[in-house]
Amino acid sequence: QNYLADSHRYDSSETFYRRCGKSGVMLPKISLGFWHNFGGVDPYERSRAITHYAFDHGITHFDLANNYGPPYGSAEETMGRLMDDSFKPYRDELFISSKAGYDMWEGPYGNWGSRKYLFASIEQSLKRMHLDYVDLFYSHRYDPNTPLEETLQALVDIVKQGKALYIGISRWPLEALKFADKYLKERDVPLLIFQDKLNLLNRGPQESGTLDYCHDNGIGFIGFSPLAQGLLTDRYINGIPEDSRMAQGKFLKSDMLTPELIAQLRAWNVEASAQGKTLAEKALSWILEQQGVTSVIVGASSVPQLEKNLKAAE
Ligand code: NDP
Repeated sequence: QNYLADSHRYDSSETFYRRCGKSGVMLPKISLGFWHNFGGVDPYERSRAITHYAFDHGITHFDLANNYGPPYGSAEETMGRLMDDSFKPYRDELFISSKAGYDMWEGPYGNWGSRKYLFASIEQSLKRMHLDYVDLFYSHRYDPNTPLEETLQALVDIVKQGKALYIGISRWPLEALKFADKYLKERDVPLLIFQDKLNLLNRGPQESGTLDYCHDNGIGFIGFSPLAQGLLTDRYINGIPEDSRMAQGKFLKSDMLTPELIAQLRAWNVEASAQGKTLAEKALSWILEQQGVTSVIVGASSVPQLEKNLKAAE
């Protein structure tokens, strides 16, 4: 099972990597997310092939979280298996993130933003992924009931202990993000990146001013669900394929697929074809053109999907 990475993987580096805010870190325009398709329920060989294709094409950033699966934790276990059979020799070429903030284990210490939860969670994540440290560790969501100082100081201390190199924040409201930015700068562990949903159908970070705030303050921005979980592709234009995320019905529900939305998707699809692109490519290129965006995290359930999505970076 020896994996040898493609020797041409950095051939497009000059245009494929972008500086993350005002940091020393460069990230690929297209990053790979492990929320779906890398869990214990998914065929390992397929997950493995997707990550090999990604890395062979310069995708150095894999985005994980403690609860990605299903079951919870199993996407990180997949990452651990991949480290063992493929990526150990390439550890220093990879930028691996994980997160804590959502429900992960039972009881009062397996959720939200306490120091207790974050410290226990990162330990578990490192064990599952067979890593000594993650490159990036996130607060996965805003916790209105824990003092922000407690969550932020835990993140600072996680960095100081060498368990993570950088800190990120995901889905916090703008006012809390501003507080975090100031708090972390004062402690010499500046916020590397903010992660939020941004795509043609969800422009929240632009409407709220979050994206501008990141841009103006030297914080990178990485967009998740850039294809709106598959809506912004040709997948649902003529119905709901059996092997699709919507057919599973858990995170992407069929009642979203209104006649208005289908009409909009078809119109965008025609526009994209006229430009010689797929709708997925058009959707990803649009995000990458927005001021302040460092990278987009795509999901993929097959190598051909990832191959198509990578075209957006050309
Ligand atoms: P996308 O919007 O990229 O959706 C991915 C899905 O779209 C795929 O699983 C596949 O669905 C379909 N798809 C992808 N490419 C194509 C294509 N070329 N043609 C047709 N269909 C395609 O992203 P996700 O919603 O998966 O999110 C990406 C990542 O963002 C996550 O893995 C995670 O890392 C991060 N994230 C972070 C969150 C946070 O709270 N911080 C929340 C959500 C995501 P199908 O299975 O139907 O084939």
